[in-house]
Amino acid sequence: MTIQVETTVRSPEAYTLAHRAVDAMQAASVWPTPLNFELWLHYLGDPEGNLGQEISRLLASGAPFTDSTAEMLAAEFLPRGRLSEEIRDAGAVLNRELAAVAGAIDKARESQVTYGNTLAEAADRMANPGEAGNLGDLVASLAHATRRIRRHTAALERRLESSNREVTKLRDHMEQVRRDAMTDALTNLANRKAFDEHLLRLCDESENAGGSLGLAIIDIDHFKRFNDTWGHQTGDQVLRYVGSVLGRVARAPRIAARYGGEEFAVIFPGETAGAIEAALNSVRVEIGSRALRRRSTNDDLGAVTISVGFGVRRAGESAGQLLARADEALYASKRSGRNKVTAAAEAVSNAA
Ligand code: GH3
Ligand code: MG
Ligand code: MG
Repeated sequence: MTIQVETTVRSPEAYTLAHRAVDAMQAASVWPTPLNFELWLHYLGDPEGNLGQEISRLLASGAPFTDSTAEMLAAEFLPRGRLSEEIRDAGAVLNRELAAVAGAIDKARESQVTYGNTLAEAADRMANPGEAGNLGDLVASLAHATRRIRRHTAALERRLESSNREVTKLRDHMEQVRRDAMTDALTNLANRKAFDEHLLRLCDESENAGGSLGLAIIDIDHFKRFNDTWGHQTGDQVLRYVGSVLGRVARAPRIAARYGGEEFAVIFPGETAGAIEAALNSVRVEIGSRALRRRSTNDDLGAVTISVGFGVRRAGESAGQLLARADEALYASKRSGRNKVTAAAEAVSNAA
C-alpha cells in the first residue's frame, strides 16, 4: 500500500512540514534518522492513511521505534516510491549510455563515408593518369583518411566497452534492487509480496500439473507479552532467530517467508501431509526447546513457542482458500493451548 504524499515539495510549506516532522519525532523519542524523517513526512502528510495508522499504533504501544521497525514500515508502505526512484535513475543511466554510443556510431559512420569518398576520388585520379597529379599528395591524403577512420573506430570500440561495463553494473544493481524489494529486511526471508507471488504461481502449477502443495502459517505464542517483558529490540532478535530456523528447514523447493509482524509462512511443494506435519513438528520442538539469551546482557529469556496451522491444497482450491484453511488451523492450535501443529479441516468451517 503506497501513500501518495509529495515529499519533494519546494515551497515555504516544505519548511513548516519538515519542522513539524522533527518536532513530532522528538516528542515521540524517535531519532531523526533519514528514514524516520521520510516516514514522518508521510505520516504528517496523511495521519489517517495506512502508514499513519500503523505509526500511531506503534507509538501508542509504547514500544521503542527501532531501525528495524522503520525498515519494516518502509518496506511495507514506501516500496513502490523507492523502487520507482531506482528505476528512474537506471533509466537515466541507460539514456546517457545510449546517447553516447549513438554519438560514437554517428562519428564512425561519418568518417566511413568520408573514407569511401576519398578512396573513390583516389581511384578516379589513378584511372586518369592526366589527373593523378602528385602521387605523394595522393598517398598522404589516403593515409590521413585511414588514420581518421582508425581513430573513430577505436573510439567507438572504447565507448562500447565502457557502456557495456556501465550496463552490466546497472543490471547487477537492478537485480539487487529487485531482490531487496522481495526480501524482509529483518529476517532475510521472502517478504509478504514475494510470498503472495510464489503462492499464486504454485497454486496455478499445482492446478495445471496436479502436484501437491502444502502451506503452513506459523505464529509466535504470546509474543506481545515477550515484547512487553524484554523489549521490542530483543523481540526483533527472536524474530530473526525463528526466521533463521525456518530458513534452514525450508530449503528449495520449500519457501519460507515472513508473512507479517510475528507470523511466518512456509510453502511445501510436492510433499504429503504426513511429511509436512513431521517437518513442522520438528521445527516447533527445536524452537520451543531452545533457551534464548539476550546477546547484550546474556539475560536468560526462557524459550518461545510457536503455533502452526497447515493445509494441503485441494483440487480447485484458490490461494486465498488454502490460506484461510491454514489460518483456521493455526487458530485451532492457539485455542487448544498453543505450541501445537494442527492440520486444516477439509473445508473452511462456517464458524470461522
Ligand atoms: P498469541 O499467542 O495469541 O499469538 O499472542 P500474541 O501476543 O503473540 O499475539 P498478538 O497478535 O496479540 O501480538 C503480536 C505481537 O507481535 C504484537 C507486536 O508487539 C508483536 N510484533 C509484531 N511485529 C513485530 C516486530 O516486527 N518486532 C517485534 N519485536 N514485535 C512485533
Ligand atoms: Mg499474530
Ligand atoms: Mg502471536
